[in-house]
Amino acid sequence: MGSTPVAPPRRIVGRVHEVRHDGTRVHLRTCPLCECMCGLELHLDDDDTVSLIRPFRDDVWSQGYICPKGTTLGRLHEDPDRVRTPLIREGDTFREATWDEAFARCEELIDGVLDRYGAAATTAFVGNPVGHSFSLGRYGALLFSKFPHIYSSGTVDQWPKNVTCALMYGNMWKIPTPDVRRTDYLVVMGGNPQASGGSLLACPDVLGELDAIKERGGQVVVIDPRRTGTVDHATEWVPIRPGTDAAFLLAVLHVLFADGLVTLGGLADKVAGFDALAPLVEEFTPESVDAWTGVPAGTIRRIAHDFATTPRAAVYGRIGLCNQEFGTLASWLVDVVNIVTGHFDVEGGLMWGTPVSAPLAWMNNTDVTGPPTFGRWRSRVRGAPEVLGQVPASCLAEEIATPGDGQIRLLVTVAANPAISVPDSDRLEEALPLLDCMIAVDNYVNETTRFAHVILPGVSPLESPHLDELMWGWAMRSAIKWSDALYALPDGASDEWEIEARLGWLLGGGSNADFDLAALDDGWFSALCRMYGLDPAEILPRYDHIGPERMIDLTIRMGPWGDRYGEVPDGLTLAKVKEHPEGLDFGPMVPRADAMVRTPSGKIELVPDHLVSDLPRLRTRLAEPHDGLVLVSRRHLRSKNSWMHNVKVLVKGRDRCTLIIHPDDAVAAGVVDGSRARVTSEAGSIEVPVEVSDEMMPGVVSLPHGWGHDRPGARLSVAREHAGVNSNILAPGGFVDVLSGNAAVNGIPVEVVPA
Ligand code: SF4
Repeated sequence: MGSTPVAPPRRIVGRVHEVRHDGTRVHLRTCPLCECMCGLELHLDDDDTVSLIRPFRDDVWSQGYICPKGTTLGRLHEDPDRVRTPLIREGDTFREATWDEAFARCEELIDGVLDRYGAAATTAFVGNPVGHSFSLGRYGALLFSKFPHIYSSGTVDQWPKNVTCALMYGNMWKIPTPDVRRTDYLVVMGGNPQASGGSLLACPDVLGELDAIKERGGQVVVIDPRRTGTVDHATEWVPIRPGTDAAFLLAVLHVLFADGLVTLGGLADKVAGFDALAPLVEEFTPESVDAWTGVPAGTIRRIAHDFATTPRAAVYGRIGLCNQEFGTLASWLVDVVNIVTGHFDVEGGLMWGTPVSAPLAWMNNTDVTGPPTFGRWRSRVRGAPEVLGQVPASCLAEEIATPGDGQIRLLVTVAANPAISVPDSDRLEEALPLLDCMIAVDNYVNETTRFAHVILPGVSPLESPHLDELMWGWAMRSAIKWSDALYALPDGASDEWEIEARLGWLLGGGSNADFDLAALDDGWFSALCRMYGLDPAEILPRYDHIGPERMIDLTIRMGPWGDRYGEVPDGLTLAKVKEHPEGLDFGPMVPRADAMVRTPSGKIELVPDHLVSDLPRLRTRLAEPHDGLVLVSRRHLRSKNSWMHNVKVLVKGRDRCTLIIHPDDAVAAGVVDGSRARVTSEAGSIEVPVEVSDEMMPGVVSLPHGWGHDRPGARLSVAREHAGVNSNILAPGGFVDVLSGNAAVNGIPVEVVPA
C-alpha cells in the first residue's frame, strides 16, 4: 500500500461468463444488498462500464428473481459522488490524500486521543452493510475488539431477536426463520417483504412464496398497523396497534393452553421450562388485550385455532415487531408460539438454515461461554444497562457531548450513517463536531461522515469479491455462490479488510511503520484454525495468499459439506465452489435442533427468567389509557435504510417521504392530502407532506426511515434533490425496549397539526 496516485476505475478482473453474439461480455454477480442474494448478469459496454443488469436465470438460488435495487450496482460504482480517494479534513472542507497520508493522519489522531484520554474515550459505530460485506464482517473483530464498547445499527433493528436467541438457543445469531416454501399457514408480524424482501429470512422471492401458499390452499395473515404491499399477497390483514404484539401473542398462547391446542411434538425432550408457561399466560385472555391491541378477541381465537390445527404453519416476526417498546417479549413469544404448537424445527414451521460456509458468528455458544448475562456495565451518562455488549445507539450523542471521565473523544464509523438513522439523531448531529478524532470507512460524504477528520473509502459493490455467510443461517435452502470482483481496486487502494486490520493495529498502540498485514492476518487465521480444532502450523503452509479468501476456504472446508482438509476426499473447497458460477445447492432446510441448540442445559430454554421479568411492565402498560396518535416507521422497495438515495432511478418520481394518515385522523388533525403537516413528539418536531390513506389503521401515522439529506457539507447531489425529512428526529432516545435496549421507533406518541 504505497502512495501511488489513484488510477481510474474499471480495470476488469472478474471472469467473463459469456460473450453474446453481439460481442456483449456478461459477468455474473450476487447482489450484496439484502438477504434475497439475487444472481445478476452484468452486461459490459466496450468501455467496460456496466450497461445493463439483468437477473441470472440459471442461478441455483434466485432463479431469475431481482428487484429494482439490484439493477443499480453499476450506477453505484460509477456514482461521481462516491468517495474513491481518502479524504482528510482541512478546516471546513476535505482535501484528497494518498492512502499513506490518510493512515498517517489516522495514527496522529488516534495517538493523540489515546495519549490524552486512554482507550476509554474511544468507540465505533458499525452499520448494517457490514453484515453483507465480503470482508468487513470477517475482519471486524480485528478492529472492534480494540474498543471498550461499540455501538451498532443492531440496536435499531434486530437486537431483541439476538437476545431471545442467545437465551433460548445459546447463540445470538442462531435465528430460526419460517420455512415459507413448505408452510400452509404463515403469520407475518411487523415484516414487509414487499418492500424489504426477506429480513432474517433468506429467500429470493418472498412474495412469490406467499402467492404459492395461497395457490396450494393455504393462508397468509399479515398483522401490521399498515396495509402494506405484502397484504396484496396475503389472505387477511389484521391491523394491530403498534407496540402491542407481545400482548397479542400472550393472548394467542392463552387460547392455545385453554383450548388444549399445545404440543411439543418431537421436541418434547429438547425443551426446558414448558410447565412454567401456562401459568404465565393464564391472565392474558383475548378479551383482556383486545382494546389495547385493536385486534378483536374473536380474531385472536380464530388465528390461534387455525394456526395450531394447520399441520405446516409458522409465525414470522420482523423489524416492526423488534423496534417497539416490548420488542424482546414479542420476539420471544413468536418463537414460543411456534414451539408449543409443534411448528418448530419441522418442515413448514420455524427452522434453522444450514450454511455451507460455517458462520464465525455461530462459534460463540453459551454452553462454552456460560449463560448470557446482562447489565455487566452501564452507560456513563444515562446508566443504560449493557445488553450483548452494547447499549442503545441513542446513548452515543450524550457520551460524546457530556464532559467527564470516559467522555467519547474518538469515533470510528464503518458503513454507518447514524446522524439520520438512530433516535434523537439531531442530538448526535450536534455532538459529532465535538470529537477530537472521527475516522469513517465509507463510500460517501454523508450526513454523518461530513464530520469526519479522515474518510477512508470503502469498495464499490463491484470492486469486491462476494460470498454471503451469515445470511445462509436463515435461508430456505443450503446453497453457496461465489462472485468475482468485477473491477480491480484503484492502484494503491486498501481493501476494506486491510483498513479494519490497520485501524485496529493503530488503536492497539501500533504504528504505521511497524504494521505487518501478513503477520496480523496469519494470527487471525491461526486463531480461527484453533477454533475449529485445527493446528495452524499444519494448515497455514497450504496457502500462498492471505485475506478473506483464505478464511472462506477454511470455513467451507470445515462446514457440513467441506473436505475437512483431506478427511473427506470429495468434500467442498472454495476452489470447487468457484467452478460453479451458477452456485451449488444442497437442498432445503432440515430439522437440526440437536446440532443448533447450545445452551448450558442442552435444551431450548422456553421461559428464560430474564424475559419473564418484563411481564409486569407489560401488565402496567396494558392498564394505561391507549389514546392519541402514534407513529410507525416504514420502508420502500426502492430504498434500503439510508443507502440508496443517491441513485436517480431509485428516487425519481413522486415524493415518497410523506406522512401517511388515516382519513378519520386527517379530519381530526385538520390536514388534507397533499398539504403539509407538523408532526411533534417529545423528542422533536418536523414538517412533512401529507398522504391521506386508509392503508393506515386509525390512530397510527407512518413516516419512512432513512431520509433527511439536506444537511450542509454532505456530498449526495441526487439525494439532496430528494432530501425528505429525518423521521428519527421524532424518536426519543430513551424510548426503548427495556430488555434489549433496542430503539422503539414504532409506537411513538405524536401530535399532528397543519404546518
Ligand atoms: S432483492 Fe434486490 S436488493 Fe435484494 S438481493 Fe435481490 S436485487 Fe439485491
